[in-house]
Amino acid sequence: MKLAVAALSVVGQVRQNNEDSYGRFEPENPQELREKGRLFVVADGMGGHRGGAIASDLAVRSIRQFYYSSNDTDRPRTLKKALLYANDKIYEHSLTDDNLTGMGTTCTAVLIHEGNAYFAHVGDSRAYILRGGILEQVTRDHSLVGEMVRSGMITDEDARNHPRRNVITRSLGVNNEITTDTPRSPFSLARGDVILLCSDGLTSLVPDEEISAVLASSGAGKACQTLVDTANGRGGKDNITVVVIEVIEL
Ligand code: CA
Repeated sequence: MKLAVAALSVVGQVRQNNEDSYGRFEPENPQELREKGRLFVVADGMGGHRGGAIASDLAVRSIRQFYYSSNDTDRPRTLKKALLYANDKIYEHSLTDDNLTGMGTTCTAVLIHEGNAYFAHVGDSRAYILRGGILEQVTRDHSLVGEMVRSGMITDEDARNHPRRNVITRSLGVNNEITTDTPRSPFSLARGDVILLCSDGLTSLVPDEEISAVLASSGAGKACQTLVDTANGRGGKDNITVVVIEVIEL
């Protein structure tokens, strides 16, 4: 299987620090690659002082560590357990320092293994798939405005401008228990599919139609850069993180 992958994370125009983190893990060892596959993660941290950055970094590192060291051959189950492990790690770490109390992070992960994509997700970062020119949001936002959109109270556009758009209803590390989503898993990949993982710094400024047009018209590297530049050019109100994964050959 051949993928083209590009990833970028920028602080934006307003924030002082980048509290987003991402991971792209593609084992160099052929056997490990074949057995465990490739794993990509976007995490958007929150919490005072340095808490947000610590939480998102810890999420990405813990998920990688758990996933690639596990002997469980059920890959999607291992991925899900990896998020629960990350939740524990962040929560435990938050108890060690008063400055880190309540820190947490979103987490959107995709595992690509034997032609399938397995998603695992908590929070309001997103995963999308572009197939045949059609963009589909794979994940459900665990946010107040996400629930309002789903219940029909407000539109996507209202949600992007809503004063409480930052209120997240589920995140890693804030509580000692967590429920993760595993949307559309497994998703059988086809040549030409493009997967996008991103933080809300992108989606709060760039609507789906534009994301779709960019992904459909350029390769992973250029698309990733264009998406980040577009959000940044519109004020870059938040940290912006984008991972683009293009299936070149199955
Ligand atoms: Ca954010």
